[in-house]
Amino acid sequence: MRKFKTESQKLLDLMINSIYTNKEIFLRELISNASDAIDKLNFRSLTDSDVKLAKDDLAINLAFDRNKRTITVSDNGIGMTEAELDKNLGTIAHSDSQTFKDENAEQQGEDVDIIGQFGVGFYSSFMVASKVRVVSKAYGAEQAFAWESDGVKGYTVEPAERESCGTDVILTIKPTSADEDYDLFLTEYRLKELVKRYSNYVRYPIKMEVTHSRQKPKPEDAGDDYKPEYENITEVETLNSMVPIWKRKRSEVEDEEYNQFYQSQFHDTNPPARIISFHAEGSLNYDVLLFIPQQAPSNLYTRGFEKGLALYSSNVMIQEKCSDLLPDHFNFVRGVVDSQDLHLNISRETLQQNAQLRAIAKRVEKKIKSELMDMLKEDREAYEKFFKQFGDMMKYGVYTTYGEASAVLLDLLLFYSAKQEKLVTLDEFVAGMPEEQDKIYFAVGTSLDLLTRQPAVTSVLNKGFDALLCTGPVDEVCLTILHEFNDTQIQNCGLSGTDLATEDEKKDAESVEEDNKDLLDAVKEALGAEVTKVVVSTRLTSEDDAAACVVPDGMVSFAMERVMAASGEDEDYQPSRILELNAKHPVFAAIQSASDLGQAEKVADYATLLYGQALLVEGLPLKDPLAFATLVSKLMV
Ligand code: ADP
Repeated sequence: MRKFKTESQKLLDLMINSIYTNKEIFLRELISNASDAIDKLNFRSLTDSDVKLAKDDLAINLAFDRNKRTITVSDNGIGMTEAELDKNLGTIAHSDSQTFKDENAEQQGEDVDIIGQFGVGFYSSFMVASKVRVVSKAYGAEQAFAWESDGVKGYTVEPAERESCGTDVILTIKPTSADEDYDLFLTEYRLKELVKRYSNYVRYPIKMEVTHSRQKPKPEDAGDDYKPEYENITEVETLNSMVPIWKRKRSEVEDEEYNQFYQSQFHDTNPPARIISFHAEGSLNYDVLLFIPQQAPSNLYTRGFEKGLALYSSNVMIQEKCSDLLPDHFNFVRGVVDSQDLHLNISRETLQQNAQLRAIAKRVEKKIKSELMDMLKEDREAYEKFFKQFGDMMKYGVYTTYGEASAVLLDLLLFYSAKQEKLVTLDEFVAGMPEEQDKIYFAVGTSLDLLTRQPAVTSVLNKGFDALLCTGPVDEVCLTILHEFNDTQIQNCGLSGTDLATEDEKKDAESVEEDNKDLLDAVKEALGAEVTKVVVSTRLTSEDDAAACVVPDGMVSFAMERVMAASGEDEDYQPSRILELNAKHPVFAAIQSASDLGQAEKVADYATLLYGQALLVEGLPLKDPLAFATLVSKLMV
C-alpha cells in the first residue's frame, strides 16, 4: 500500500466527507480527463509521423452496472505508465488544486463551491465512489497497470490486463444514504443528462449502450384484437453533440446553451454578461467565441491572474490559456479561438511570434471593443455594471501602455462628472462643457463628497465649469498619461498654476501680495521647509471660500504623494507645497492686524493653524498633530 501525499490526503478527506451539493461534477471531470488523454495521443500523431491512429475510433466509453454498482469511464487515449499512475493520481501536482488546498485551509466546513470552481479533477470521484480502480496502459507500453484506492488509507499499483492503450476508470458507487441518492447515478437517464449538461462539446464521441423500448412489428396474421407488443433493444448511442459550440452559427445556438458552455468550461457561477461569436474566412480561417463575465474574479487585479483564450487547431487543444490572443486591458475576457490553419508543431516561443496569431489577436481586440461600444450605446445600465467590474483594468491599460492603447480604450472609459453628477465618457464630458471651458479638469481624492467641497474643485464649479472627480486607484495616472482628448487638454485642477483666474484677478492678487509682503514672509518663516511658497490665492476669492488651501508645487499631486508614501519607497521625500491664502476671508484681516501690531507669535500660530487645516481638507497627515491640537485648544480659551 502506498500513501497519499499529505496535501492529497487533505483534499481526499474533504471529498469523502464533502457536503458539497454538486457531487455530479465527478463525471464531467473524468470525461475531461479522458478527452485530454485522447487529445494528447492525437496531438502526438499530428506532430510525430511514427504514431499511426485510426482517428474515427477515438472515443470515450461510458458504462454502468446496477448490480455491481459500478460506473466505468474508458478512453483510448495516451494512457499512463506505472510511474505516471503513481505520480498523477497519488499527488495533487497542478497549481489549481494547490490553490484550492491553501484556500480551503480557512474554509473547512463551509459548502465548498470551490470544488466546482477549481475542478479538482480525478479526486472528485471519491465524492460518489467508495472505491476507484484505474486500469491504464500507456501508449507504446507492453504492460498495463491498475491503480486502486478507497481514498482513505492509500492506494495500490499492480500489473493488470488491458488490450490496447488507454484508461478505464471504474467507480464503485457508494450506497444511497439519507442525504444523497447515489443510486440515481446508476441510471441511464441520469448519466445521459449529465453528459449533455456538462460534456456536450467534448470533441470525441461519448458512447454508451442504451436501451430503447420499441413496438414489435405487427404479425401479418394478427387478428382484430391484436394488442401491440413491445421489446427492449440495446444499442450504442453517442450522447454528446460534439460539434464545438464555437463552430456553430450564433443564430442557431440558444443563449442558454452558450451560458451552459461558459459556466461549465470556465467555472463561473454566473452566466456571462455578453457573448461574442464570429467566424473569419479568407487567407486565415478561424472561429472565435468570447464571453464577457458579469463579475471580476477575485484575483483579477493580482499578479497571479492568468489571462488568455483557449487555442484549438484541428480539434486539438494547443494551449489552454494563450495569452498572446488577448491584450492586457481586456484580460477579463474568456473564450475559445479555433483555427485549422495554425501549424500544430510550433513551440510556445514561435507561437508568440506567429503572425497568424497576431492577426487573430488584432481582430479579437477589435471585436471586443465594438461589442463594448454597442453595450455602452444600447444598454447604459449594463455597461456601467460592467465598467464597475472591469473599468479599472482598461484605465490601467492606458497607463501601462503609456497611452498606446488609448486609441482602443479612450471611448470606453467612464469618469464621474461633478456637474452632471453621473458617470460620463470623455466625449460626453466635453459635449457638456460650457463654451468658455477649454480644458478637461480633474481632481483626485478619496470620496466624491469630499472632492466636491475641495477648493480646487469648487473654484472650477464656481466658474460654471465642470470637472471629473476621480476616486479610483488608477484614474489619476490614466488621465495624466492621456494628457489630452481630441485636442482638449486634460489637467489636474489640484496642481499649482491651474487656477482659472483672469489676468485682472491675477494682477489683483499680485498687488495684495506686494502690500502684504512682510506678512507673507512671516507666514513662510513660521512654516519653514514645510512649504516652498506662501501666496495670495486666485482660486479662493470670496469670503465664503476657505481661508486657505494647499497645492503641490510641481507635478506630483497629493494623491500621487499618498501612493508614494504608502509604498514607502522614499522615506526622505520632502513634498513641495504652496500655501494659498484667501485675502477676502476675515481670517486674513485678523492675521494682517496681528502682523501690523507686531504680534509675531500670534502670526506664527495662525500660520500653523491655517496650514494644518488646509492639509486636513486635502486628507494629508499633519506632521505634528499634538502641536496642532494644542494650538486649537489655545484658541478656545
Ligand atoms: P487535472 O486533470 O486537472 O490535471 P486530475 O487530478 O484530474 O487533474 O488528473 C491528474 C493527472 O492524471 C492528469 O493531469 C493526467 O496527467 C492524469 N490522468 C487523469 N486521468 C487520465 C486519463 N484518463 N488518461 C491519462 N491520464 C490521466
